[in-house]
Amino acid sequence: MFKHLMPKQTPPLLPIALVDEAILGQTAIAVHHFDAELAHLAEQMSASMEAAKGVGIAAPQVHSPLALFIMASRPNERYPDAPNMAPVVVVNPQIIHASSDLVGGEEGCLSVPGQRFNILRHQAIEVRYQNLQGEWQQAELTGFIARIFQHEFDHLQGITLLERSRMPEQAQSISAQSIEQGEAQ
Ligand code: ZN
Repeated sequence: MFKHLMPKQTPPLLPIALVDEAILGQTAIAVHHFDAELAHLAEQMSASMEAAKGVGIAAPQVHSPLALFIMASRPNERYPDAPNMAPVVVVNPQIIHASSDLVGGEEGCLSVPGQRFNILRHQAIEVRYQNLQGEWQQAELTGFIARIFQHEFDHLQGITLLERSRMPEQAQSISAQSIEQGEAQ
């Protein structure tokens, strides 16, 4: 599938799929081959994410159908208050527990350029995923990192930020949220 992508020292940037493209509406396919091709895709995704000042990127956003994303929170122009974390490659993720409390926060998406939404997410989640070597990892995530995970996890279910913003659980509590002026919708 990625035969045309030859390993290079500096990975070329991949074009980012925009919100009306079909790949963003599809459920991602589980990764079975933890090989050099997968590692190369992750490198290219990481480079493309950094170039676009993202704090996460999912494979469907670079036109790959695989269940894979990268979380890489750090302060930048798009997210000045983001916490610092080393980039994590997340393969075949599962959310095994989610806190009942939802918290609001502003989110953008590389596939929905120039827009921000106030989105409710679970404050804490317990997750399982595989790393690039195929080893299962388990983690408890909270706050902004949990938010990134849930955002990228949505991408693997074919749910875009626009769709998430229109889901019933978002509308119900919108009145309870303090929304930054002019940022929502
Ligand atoms: Zn996104």
